Amino acid sequence: MADCIFCKIAAGEVNAKVVYEDEDTLAFIDLNPQAPTHALVIPRRHIDRLTAAQDGDAALLGKLQIAAAKVAKILKVDGAFRLVTNNGKGAGQSVDHLHYHLLGGRKLLWPPG
Ligand code: AMP
Repeated sequence: MADCIFCKIAAGEVNAKVVYEDEDTLAFIDLNPQAPTHALVIPRRHIDRLTAAQDGDAALLGKLQIAAAKVAKILKVDGAFRLVTNNGKGAGQSVDHLHYHLLGGRKLLWPPG
């Protein structure tokens, strides 16, 4: 997608602090961290949000989860972290490219706000 910031990061056109990448996924540090550890895990291929995913995206979504677990290990928060996606503006989604927030390094309260 031409105007998508996360597509640009995935293509290497915009700088980001990348902490993990493979052929289908990418993870980088959030610019506005909400926890001591805050990474975003994205598919390279543009999908607007989780509800835009199709049956044919099942393998990619699985890879995203596996990538997230690897990122948690790389960032040394695999003992305690939260993985969350904001789906839609009402849930706080500000970038229309599917991404999971991986948060850790502090006590995470439940329920979230
Ligand atoms: P959301 O509000 O759930 O759509 O999350 C979007 C996240 O992307 C926010 O936490 C932003 O801080 C983060 N973000 C936006 N632009 C960038 C960027 N260029 N590099 C890293 N993180 C970004």
